[in-house]
Amino acid sequence: MNNDLFCQRSISLVKKACEILELDETTEQIICEPKRAIEVTLPVKMDDGSIRTFKGWRILHTDAPGPGKGGLRFHPETNYDEVRALATLMTFKCSVAGIPYGGGKGGIRVNPKELSKMELERLSRAYMRAIAQFVGVDIDIPAPDVYTNPQIMAWMMDELSVIRQYNEFGCITGKPLSVGGSKGRSTATGQGNLYVTRAALRYMGKEIEGAKVCIHGCGNAGATAAKIFAAAGAKIVAICDSKTAVYDPEGIDIDLISEIKEKTGNLHGYTKGKQISPDEVLAVPCDIFLPASLEGIINEDNADKIQASLISEMANGPITPEADAILSKKGIIILPDILASAGGVIVSYFEWVQNRGGYYWSDAEVQEKLETKLVEALDEIKKFKEEYKLDSWRHAAFGIAVARVAQSMKDRGWC
Ligand code: GLU
Repeated sequence: MNNDLFCQRSISLVKKACEILELDETTEQIICEPKRAIEVTLPVKMDDGSIRTFKGWRILHTDAPGPGKGGLRFHPETNYDEVRALATLMTFKCSVAGIPYGGGKGGIRVNPKELSKMELERLSRAYMRAIAQFVGVDIDIPAPDVYTNPQIMAWMMDELSVIRQYNEFGCITGKPLSVGGSKGRSTATGQGNLYVTRAALRYMGKEIEGAKVCIHGCGNAGATAAKIFAAAGAKIVAICDSKTAVYDPEGIDIDLISEIKEKTGNLHGYTKGKQISPDEVLAVPCDIFLPASLEGIINEDNADKIQASLISEMANGPITPEADAILSKKGIIILPDILASAGGVIVSYFEWVQNRGGYYWSDAEVQEKLETKLVEALDEIKKFKEEYKLDSWRHAAFGIAVARVAQSMKDRGWC
C-alpha cells in the first residue's frame, strides 16, 4: 500500500465510525484533520566532514483528550502522508486503550543502516532541536517505532533536557531503564498482543497452548512476539524477515533462530525447517497469523491465501481495505491494530506516569496493569460491536475510540 492510500484508508475508517455514531459534519471534519504538522530539514555532519540533509516530520493529530503520543520512525520511504496516517491511528489507539492521550507521530526519511552510530546520534539530536517547542511532557511525547530504539530516545531526551536546562524524562518514552525507562517497555508490543489474542481466543472457546502461529516480520515486534507466544505454549510454525523465511510444521526453535538472526542479520542459517520465501509465509497452514512488519502486506493479491482463523495485527495498518473484505468473507476474525498493537503505547503511558511520579514499578506490576487494560478494552469493543450490530472488530474498535475523542472535543467546546 502506498503512503497516500494508507492515509486515505485511515481517514475512511474514522469517517465510517462517524457514520456509525451519527456524528455531525463539524466534528467529523475536526476529527479527520491533523491539528498541527511540522516539516523540518535537518543538515547533519557526516563522519567524513560532508553535510547531508534529511527531511523529517512531527504531526500532532489531536490533543483533545491529552497530550499527543506516538512513535518516531526512521525509514527511507516515510513521508508526510505516512506520518499523518500513523498519527491519526495513534489517537484512536490511545483512545481504545483507555489512556489519556491524543495522537502524534514522527518520521525521518533516512535509511539508518547507512549511518554510523555518531551520525545517527547527530541526526537524532538535530531532529529534537528542530521540534523542541512542539514536544514535551504535556505537549506531544515521542517513542520508538520502526528502526528507532531506546538509545535514540535517550539522545533525544538528553538534547531536550539540555535545551530546557532541566531533566525532562517524561518528554519521551521507550528510554533505557537507566534514564527513566519502564520495566516491560521493550517487550510490551508483543506481550500486549499475546494478552489480547489469548482473551479473544477464549471468546472463541480456544486456547493459546498448542495453537499454530505464523509471524510476518522479525524486527523488534515480531522477534519478541515469537519468544512470548512460544513461552505461552504456542507453536511458531513460520516466521520471516524482509528477505528470508522459515517454515516448520513441527514448530521452530525460537532461541536458535533468534540467535541466528542476531548474528547474521537473516534467517538463512536455520537448517531445521524449510527455507521458503516471505510471500509463502502468508499461505502457511496455521491458527493465528501475526502481521508484524509494515503497512499493507496483506492485500487483494494474497488475502485469499491466508489459512488462519484469527489475525492479530501487531503492525500498524498491515491489511488493506480490499483484503479486509476478502478475509471477512472467509470468516477470519481480525483483531485490529489499534487494539492488538497497543501494548507498546500502554507501557509508554506507564513509563510517563512513573516519570511524573518519580516512583518505579516492578515488572509484575507492569504486566498485571497491561493485561487488565487490554482485556478491558477488548470487552468494551465486544459490547460496542454487539450494541451496534457490527460484523467487524475493526469498525467496533474505531467506533468506541472515535466516540471518546469526539466527546473530549465536545466537552472542550471545539464542536
Ligand atoms: N510506535 C508504537 C506504536 O505505534 C509505540 C508508540 C508509543 O509508545 O508512544 O504504537
